[in-house]
Amino acid sequence: MGRRARGKRAGSARAGRARLGHEAPGTVVHGPPITVTCECGERRDLRYGESWDCERCGRKWDTSQIPAEQYESIRRLQWRFRVLPIALGVFVAALAIFFTLTGNVFSVFILLPLAMMSWFFFVRPVHRRRYRQAIAELPRWELHPQ
Ligand SMILES: [Zn+2]
Repeated sequence: MGRRARGKRAGSARAGRARLGHEAPGTVVHGPPITVTCECGERRDLRYGESWDCERCGRKWDTSQIPAEQYESIRRLQWRFRVLPIALGVFVAALAIFFTLTGNVFSVFILLPLAMMSWFFFVRPVHRRRYRQAIAELPRWELHPQ
């Protein structure tokens, strides 16, 4: 079984590392990718449940060694951070539709750039920082080759 090993360096000869990191397309549906670092230094991004035969040294790594409930909690965390931009987008779109329907098209031309600007300059940097912090606090796992 994969052990939870936060902050511990995988110094032993029989352990690779798995960690969560960057975003990739399809992340929301499948959950964040798991970066597995082989003992020989090769890296690969895998989906949860996927296994990988290292091309360089032939070791076999299986991400299903990670306990499902741990991975699930990470998925939920990521989902929470995804909901905010979506909710804001829906809110702005609803306002734009409202202004359009009430014949106030001019307001839409003010609203949309304003919303975009405040998103990119104020909301997104804070949001991304928080997300990165949350990700950094996630556990690392030690996997064992099969
Ligand atoms: Zn390898």
